[in-house]
Formats: sequence, C-alpha cells, structure tokens
Amino acid sequence: MNSPSLLPFLSALSLLSVAAASTAYPSIPGTDAGDCSLTGSETTDLPPPPRREVYDNGRIFDISHRYVPEMPVFDSDKGLGQFLWLPKSMKNGSRANNSEFKLGVHTGTHVDAPGHFYDNYYDAGFDVDTLDLEVLNGLALLVDVPRDSNITAEVMKSLYIPKGVRRVLFRTLNTDRRLMFKKEFDSSYVGFKEDGAKWLVENTDIKLVGVDYLSAASYDHSVQSHLVFLESREIILVEGLKLDDVPAGIYSLRCLPLRLVGSEASPIRCILIR
Ligand SMILES: [Zn+2]
Repeated sequence: MNSPSLLPFLSALSLLSVAAASTAYPSIPGTDAGDCSLTGSETTDLPPPPRREVYDNGRIFDISHRYVPEMPVFDSDKGLGQFLWLPKSMKNGSRANNSEFKLGVHTGTHVDAPGHFYDNYYDAGFDVDTLDLEVLNGLALLVDVPRDSNITAEVMKSLYIPKGVRRVLFRTLNTDRRLMFKKEFDSSYVGFKEDGAKWLVENTDIKLVGVDYLSAASYDHSVQSHLVFLESREIILVEGLKLDDVPAGIYSLRCLPLRLVGSEASPIRCILIR
C-alpha cells in the first residue's frame, strides 16, 4: 500500500489538511442535540443514513442505547464526554479512517458478571467471557413495574411472574423519566431493593434480570441487591436497557456481550424480536 508514487501526493494532502485538522471526532449525524444534524453536512450530498429503533415493520426492537457523549455515567454529573477519536483520518492523509474509543465497561446498555461485586469471583475469573449465552438469548418477558415504587418483595409478588419464566425485563419509572437520555446521573432512579432481589432469587426461575437504568439495584441498596443477585453466579444482570415504546409482552431476546477477558462487565447489544 506504500506505493512510492503515492507518497508525495499523500504528504501534500496531509500538509494541506493540517489547517483544518481537529482532534475532536467529527459530529455524528443524528446524534447531536437538535434535528438539524439529521440533514447531513456540507461535505456530502448523500442523504443521511437511517437511524432506527425498530426494524422490519415492528418485528425487531433495538433495546440498546446509542453511545454518545451526553449519556449518563453512574455517580457523575458530567456524562460520558468524548470517548471516540479519529487518530487516523482520511482528511489528514490516511488511506482509511481508523477510530479509537475509551469507555467504562459499565457505560450505557451493559451486562454485569459475578466479579463485579465479589472479589473472589473476580480473582477466580468469572468475567463477562464466562457468561452463558443461553441465558442471554431466549424467550423473555417485558413487564411494567408499578411506577410509584422501587422493586421490593411486595412489588415482585404483585407482578405474578409465572414459574418457568427465565428472562424478565423490568420497565419502570426510569423509562418514563427518560433518565438514560439525561447527562446528569440521577440517584433517585428506581431499582431492586434487597428484599425484592431476595424474593426474585427465592421464588422465581428468573436468570436474566433486565433494567432500564444504570444499576439493577436501587441507589441505597446498591451493594446489597447486587450481592443477592450475583452470589449464585447463575443470574445475569443487563442494565441500562432502552425500553421506550416497546409493548409489554413476550419476545425472543438476543443479547451479546463482548468477550472482554478479565472484565466484570461489558457493553452489550440487545434486541427483542416478536
Ligand atoms: Zn453494571
């Protein structure tokens, strides 16, 4: 690829573009605030690509959040910030665009492994690469949780989730409040209280727990509820799901984490299929 005849051309190109060079990643159409970014940029005549939440006439729902600088990060009011760079860009003379990113493994829609709250499991290697894809893929129930409460034992009882149901996505007030779309972390989100987590472990067959904010546990039971869920190493927590505008009901759930060896969490892409 380093053809000698191309080199003078490429160096000239990179010199020319120094003035316009920017270390910031170019704005991403469709993800900036305001819809004006959806109309494309001055550098291309192409129509903007579609960015969808639903595919195939409502058969496939994307329930993962987009990774954007404005998304919330646990216990921070600054949001994610810049996480993506284009160190090698065609505008600066590279033959191809090559981006890099840096991301906390619990950012956005993500999955927790047992090593997240148990250091002995962490040391023993219970990372995201060891999570069971059978649990992460299969029939799942999307339920609406009463909006005035954390997920307590009382609330769990009231949901009447039948025995045999192994994957449940809990839609809560967090979805109504659009908390995942707000940059500032909001500790008033709802999640599992310790007694709710215990009730689930002791009285149901649920092995996949999906929630609609950054933690399955309520803020005040952050540690306790995680300990209850993760102790058996059989329950997988998928956090930060995007459950807006999806009818409650039964779906085929597909969730695939990255094979990050040694990591107690991973970003995850989850979809629901009717
Ligand atoms: Zn997590």
